Amino acid sequence: MSDLFVELKTPNGKTYKQPRGLFINNEFVKSKSGETISSTNPSDESEITTVYAAGPEDVHVAVAAARKAFKDPSWRDLDSTARGAILFKFAELIEQHRETLAAIETWDNGKPFSVSLNDDLGEVIGTIKYYAGYADKIHGQVIETSPAKLAYTIREPLGVCAQIIPWNFPLAMAAWKLGPALATGNTVVMKAAEQTPLSILYLATLVKDAGFPPGVINILNGEGRKAGAALAQHLDVDKIAFTGSTATGKEIMKMAAVNMKNITLETGGKSPLVVFDDADLDQAVKWAHVGIMYNQGQVCTATSRILVQEGVYDKFIEGFKKHVSETSVVGDPFKDDTFQGPQVTKTQFERVLSYIDAGKKEGATLVAGGEAYKNVGGKGFFVSPTIFTNVKDDMKIYREEVFGPFVVISSFKTEEEAIQRANDTTYGLGAAVFTQDITKGHRLARLIEAGMVWINSSNDSDIRVPFGGVKQSGIGRELGEAGLEAYTNKKAVHVNLGNRL
Ligand code: ADP
Repeated sequence: MSDLFVELKTPNGKTYKQPRGLFINNEFVKSKSGETISSTNPSDESEITTVYAAGPEDVHVAVAAARKAFKDPSWRDLDSTARGAILFKFAELIEQHRETLAAIETWDNGKPFSVSLNDDLGEVIGTIKYYAGYADKIHGQVIETSPAKLAYTIREPLGVCAQIIPWNFPLAMAAWKLGPALATGNTVVMKAAEQTPLSILYLATLVKDAGFPPGVINILNGEGRKAGAALAQHLDVDKIAFTGSTATGKEIMKMAAVNMKNITLETGGKSPLVVFDDADLDQAVKWAHVGIMYNQGQVCTATSRILVQEGVYDKFIEGFKKHVSETSVVGDPFKDDTFQGPQVTKTQFERVLSYIDAGKKEGATLVAGGEAYKNVGGKGFFVSPTIFTNVKDDMKIYREEVFGPFVVISSFKTEEEAIQRANDTTYGLGAAVFTQDITKGHRLARLIEAGMVWINSSNDSDIRVPFGGVKQSGIGRELGEAGLEAYTNKKAVHVNLGNRL
């Protein structure tokens, strides 16, 4: 086997061929500099393998491949139903390789295998199929003006789309971006996060067999500041779609200005979950747990700030503590009963611990967790699920995104106060409201400044429903029909039917 592939065995015993190269023009190639990045198993801190890392010169080659493919009749002029069929085939191949993809995802990222297999891969396949179905249902309009004019619109692809994805849901984030971009006829250069480079390369092995012409999908690994920045600044890239931190999103926005790229940004959050006295408390407790502890708390829409009305504050905390201690089983992500695996990297692990320190120093009350979780063989980036109560609005732990199994709880008196405090943040991604009063629920849904509001649930997003933020949580929408708008232009065509000068 050339050094572009390495045979690996996953912790759950699957032997497979892991690609290590950059995927350009339907082939794996080495990076020009020969530089690599290392992928670490967060459960035991061992190196899994290394993969080639793109530099600006490789980015250039990938963008040129994508541009050529965009103009090539094999893709540009493809019948839209045939384009959908390629996407359907891609989804079918992913289904066939589901177990392997899920095992790689868990190995590299640390999320429980059952979650990778059912949730992440389910979402990947569902999203690709959903957009496959749209490929031949993307229509322009005829616009009535006068008998002397025929005016119509064509929804055309944007061109070469750079897509920069994060490490918390590597394959799912890839699918959210590939689906709508390809259904609408764009070509793509995707860059995976350097923390989780493996699953995306395995996904690349399915691209050619699905029938995508060379250059339509290019997949690179590489560091954000090198490969990512080269994409964001590239003059021949038409669009940049990014999911990641708010700080990086702002950087990308600045770089994208160089040729006024179309942008979609999905960034951070500190989403509130508001529990009113009249809520079904048992349900509020259970959803609040999922809302923050799922995926090791590494979810941009995690409802990490819980506001509970005075009348049920003590009861909620008691129930929540109990539920977390019973449900959030921390451990080996390949074990069936594990709810929470390790944080993705040492950096993230240390980041969460630093917020635990900050919470203690700021005088909040630590009621659960608050330390590295040591019962998994002494290695790995595990953190015990952490709950702080009596948290004040000016505390760092109340204001900043932690991105871990870490939640702050505070009490409120009135509905007005709940709304004011829910909105007292620079972010605006998600929000959850628990009440049995439907009028109040809908009222809050309108008044809370967020891209998504859940009434009596949290984080049960759906690929058919738009996803995105307001304020510093992002620009534009992914998923649903709205996701297509991010990848098409409306070209207007004016036909003169008799206006003579
Ligand atoms: P985190 O801080 O959680 O790692 P980032 O927002 O830094 O999140 O990373 C998300 C994605 O953005 C990753 O693919 C990363 O490589 C990429 N990235 C990071 N910095 C830059 C940058 N300056 N330009 C372009 N992409 C970047």
